[in-house]
Amino acid sequence: MSYSTDNIFAKILRAEAPAAKVYEDAKTLAFMDAMPQVPGHTLVIPKYPSEDLFGIPPDDLAATIKSVQLVGRAVRAAFESTGIMIAQLSGREAGQTVFHLHFHILPRHHGLELKFHAREFEDIAVLESHAQKIRDQLARQS
Ligand code: 5GP
Repeated sequence: MSYSTDNIFAKILRAEAPAAKVYEDAKTLAFMDAMPQVPGHTLVIPKYPSEDLFGIPPDDLAATIKSVQLVGRAVRAAFESTGIMIAQLSGREAGQTVFHLHFHILPRHHGLELKFHAREFEDIAVLESHAQKIRDQLARQS
């Protein structure tokens, strides 16, 4: 499959679709998942147009993983989570539903189960308040 510029994350990158953004640099963008599996579910994407893990040059992938660590640290602090789960699905058979490479950051707590994947939209005001908590932590870290 070749990369399609019609996917929702490409639209978010072009500011043609809204997102509760938490972090941006020259090569990456992070924003709240619109259908979070737990409160604080955040996505980190490269700006490079790759549909999955295998179509991205190593330097862009390295920049993306660096952002996963940076934003993951802020998510962990903002949601006082005892564990952080990082997920990356490459390919429809793996469960991928948006075909622009992304890493999921999922704060985990003992006894708090994950909701179904990509099933139920969260209120935008809730997503914005969660994004603000993460941005506050990023500001503290810098
Ligand atoms: P995948 O299934 O490809 O690993 O993950 C795609 C993720 O994108 C899902 O967790 C889903 O909830 C999220 N998602 C789908 N549409 C939108 C959207 O319009 N905005 C945002 N912020 N997230 C979305």
